[in-house]
Amino acid sequence: MMNINRRDFVKLTTAAAAGIAAVPAFGGLGQAFANTAEERAKQLSPKWTQQTTSVCAFCSVGCGLLVNTDLETKRAVNVEGNPDHPINEGALCAKGAASIQMTENPKRPGKFLYRAPYSGEWEEKDWNFCKTRIAQLIKKSRDESFEKKNAKGQVVNRTMGIASLGSAALDNEECYAMHSFMRSLGLVYVEHQARI
Ligand code: SF4
Repeated sequence: MMNINRRDFVKLTTAAAAGIAAVPAFGGLGQAFANTAEERAKQLSPKWTQQTTSVCAFCSVGCGLLVNTDLETKRAVNVEGNPDHPINEGALCAKGAASIQMTENPKRPGKFLYRAPYSGEWEEKDWNFCKTRIAQLIKKSRDESFEKKNAKGQVVNRTMGIASLGSAALDNEECYAMHSFMRSLGLVYVEHQARI
């Protein structure tokens, strides 16, 4: 009997699938919203897909992913760990294993929702409204909390009223631009998810 480890097994099954013109992917995590066995069985219908590599954007580890995209709908139907990636060798943590839900999740709001202060209702808003609202709140907080000098009379030009937490989904250049912008506002508390 042939001895193979998990990595070899994944490679063998991937190679076998690649022998066909396209890789058939079976219902992945993004389709795991079936309520009945019958619905789930329907979801298991093979789909003709294209497989591409990607990187998990949830944290700074940067695990490799294999993404299968439906050739007809152009939507991702399955995401799993890439066994050939040197960092994770096919393994994913719970966040990475669920990463298809970043784009394929019917329960995620697809529009901007705004809840006004003291309101219990969500309202749909467009991007321009959201940008303007965020800018207004940043300016208000900065104006109210800005300190030109500290208790010793030294010039500090800072605000302690706003903090920034960067996302691991940002690349180096985006982080640089965001950091420069925050410092230009006088922020002291600038942190990044990758350091946490
Ligand atoms: S799979 Fe988990 S450990 Fe790997 S990059 Fe994503 S969040 Fe980080």
